[in-house]
This record gives sequence, structure tokens and C-alpha cells, in this order.
Amino acid sequence: MQKSEALFSRAQKTIPGGVNSPVRAFKAVGGTPRFITKADGPYMWDADGKRYIDYVLSWGPMVLGHNNDKIREAVIEAAGSGLSFGAPTEAEILMAEKVIEMVPSMEMVRMVNSGTEATMSSIRIARGYTGRNKIVKFEGCYHGHADSLLVKAGSGALTMGVPSSPGVPAEVAQHTLTVEFNNLESVEAVFREHGDDIACIIVEPVAGNMNCIPPVEGFLEGLRAICDHHGTVLIFDEVMTGFRVSRGGAQERYGVTPDITCLGKVIGGGMPVGAFGGKRDIITHVSPTGPVYQAGTLSGNPVAMAAGIAALSQLQQDGLYEGIYRSTEQLVEGMQALADKHGVPMTTNHAGSMFGLFFTDVEKVVNYQQAINCNTEQFKQFYHGMLNEGVYLAPASYEAGFVSSQHDSAVIEETLHAADKVLAAL
Ligand code: PMP
Repeated sequence: MQKSEALFSRAQKTIPGGVNSPVRAFKAVGGTPRFITKADGPYMWDADGKRYIDYVLSWGPMVLGHNNDKIREAVIEAAGSGLSFGAPTEAEILMAEKVIEMVPSMEMVRMVNSGTEATMSSIRIARGYTGRNKIVKFEGCYHGHADSLLVKAGSGALTMGVPSSPGVPAEVAQHTLTVEFNNLESVEAVFREHGDDIACIIVEPVAGNMNCIPPVEGFLEGLRAICDHHGTVLIFDEVMTGFRVSRGGAQERYGVTPDITCLGKVIGGGMPVGAFGGKRDIITHVSPTGPVYQAGTLSGNPVAMAAGIAALSQLQQDGLYEGIYRSTEQLVEGMQALADKHGVPMTTNHAGSMFGLFFTDVEKVVNYQQAINCNTEQFKQFYHGMLNEGVYLAPASYEAGFVSSQHDSAVIEETLHAADKVLAAL
């Protein structure tokens, strides 16, 4: 670990916390973040040459595994023609056509550079379209770091103990109404009071920023019905779930159609890409067809589009998702069996190729309170044990894990072999 330690102390001199995104600093689990030098397939290597089986996958994007040949070649080819033009290209049309083909509720789509931009722009459009001010989000859901969305947020905000961030004026935060995930009653209660002024509900259809919590039966359908009743825009933040919990995202998996969809992560194949889209009459409110302003110097960047198109094209292969789901099931079922064998109170959740491990007595975790009541000390020990054995999990207990098409059954077996040793020692 010597090289990672030296790099970490050097990084802290010029970069706040030594990292460009907080959870990378290992604050929740303690110890030294591993500085990564390369990644391939299901593996990453750190600066000291140690190999890890990676279940973070760049926080979701690498559903085809690291260093995918076709994505890499597409990027190199596009880069040969110039890196950015700030003028329209055919690649942007191809990308839009591909996204719409795979996620049909998106009748029109606009590219941005991150998930944060996708959600921030979507709520602006929802407000512009409805002429209303308030938005409803769920406690423990994370939608990026725009002001209105950093209220009772999950992910790093939760891990760092600042789910509602200083720097967000109270006048802004007052328009964000926060309710309980998987609890329709709590949603109905805020609509009884503020229904006429609620522009949108924004939801992670599978919550992946308070560990992994799938929707209970009827929850997403209930949100759809409430939005229809009140003339409110339903936004699915599928930045994490898009092209991951199924080819067409959570909306395909659960059969509930939002008005606006936000995408990120997988859509860029590892390059910085986000997108939002949805019903034509809503999305055309955006500039230049409508009055709601939204723009981006590097949006639709040709190199990023090439990566995204190469990723999405491969995701259309028959049987690809079924293989990833099988690996995910092998992993969570194996982990559960090992925890039971060693008498460690643990339960798992999964949806498609997203999974979560919870150190708790609760049989099935379905809400935020249960997620944050898990045994973080035990998680930390498990985390470092696994890291030591060469398995790289998210360095915080509030993050979902991810499996790629490169995690074959031998890779999962190797992971379970490591978990057997680590759980035995807990
Ligand atoms: N929405 C969700 C559901 C996310 O998981 C994330 C990032 N983890 C974001 C939005 C923000 O995306 P980005 O980090 O690309 O801004």
C-alpha cells in the first residue's frame, strides 16, 4: 500500500481531501484509498500492483466491464477527428435515436455531461412546464448535487453526515418536500397539503444511494397515479438504474412509465455523459424550442457520444442482461449462505445487476430507517477484510454494488471464497 499512501498524502496538499468526489476518500471505512492505475474486465489494479475484483465499476457505468474493446476503439477513432466542435454532429442524432429506441418513454432527449445536470435540468423543466414551485423527493435518494436536490440526500451526503448541505439557502430548500421511500401514505400526505403547487416527484425507481432498496409492489404505480391526479410531472432518476436493472431501465422492469427520465453513468460507457428526455410536449419547453433555459459547452461531445453509442449498441445483444442477472444472483445468494453459515446477521437486496448487503437482523430492508440502522462497524470490518482479499466494494455502506458482463461465475466464486474467510473472522 506504500504507493497509494504516498499518493494520498501528496493529493491532500492540493485537492480537498485528496479526492475529486468525497466517497473516494474512504472516510466512512477509514484507511487509505487505493489509487488506481488500470482496469480491465472485472478487475482493477492499484498503484502498488494489487489486483481487485471490482464491484464499484466507476459507480455504475462499466456494465460491460472495464476497458471494453469496442468502446475503447470508438473513442480512439472519434478522437482522431477532433475532440470538440461546439456545433451539431451526426453522432448526437445516432445517440438520441439509440436512447429512444431503448427507452421508448423518452420521445425526445437532450445530452448533458453528468447525472447532476440531467436531474437539475429536469426539475427546472418540470417547474417551467407546470408553473409550480415545489418538488417532492425521497429521504435517502440522491439525485446529484444541485441545490434543490441536496435536501435529505443519500450517497456521499449521507455518508459524510450532511444529507442537507450548508450553502443551500433555506429559501431554496423550503421548496423541496421530502417523504419516505416505499411509503405512499407519506406522499399522499404532502399532496393533501401542497398538491396544487407540486411541479414534480423525482424518484430513484430502485434506490441505490441508501444501499440498494427496490420499490415495494405498487409503490411506483402509486406515484404514477398521484402525479396523474394532481397534474404533477413524474421524473424517474434512472442515472443509476438506466441500462442496468434492465435494458430499458427500471421503467421497463417494473412497467411504470414516467414523464421525464434522467440518465447518466452507463449511457456514456465511461465518458462524462448524462441525458434527460421524456414526453415531447414537456421536453420541448427547453431552449431553443421553449423558454426554459439549459445549455452546455461540451454537451453531446463527439468522443463521449462515440463511447456511449458503442456501449449502448453492445447492450442490445441477446442474452447479455440475463447473464449479468445470473451472476448477481449467484453473488447475493452465495453471500447470504455464507453469512448464515457463519452466524453473521446479514440480508441482501438486488434488482437486475444492482445489489446491496445489509448487516442487520431485519429480514428484508425496504426503507431508509432500516438502511441507516445497519451495523456500520461490522460493515467496516467486512469491507477491509474483502479489500485485503482483493475484492473492491464501495467504501461506504450506503452505496449499491454493481456487477458487469465480465463477472463470470468463476469471478463470483473467487469473490465468495474471499467472503467465506472474511465472514468467518467477523
Ligand atoms: N442520480 C443518481 C440516482 C445517482 O446515483 C447519481 C450519482 N451517483 C446522480 C444522480 C448524479 O450523477 P453525477 O455524479 O454524474 O452527477
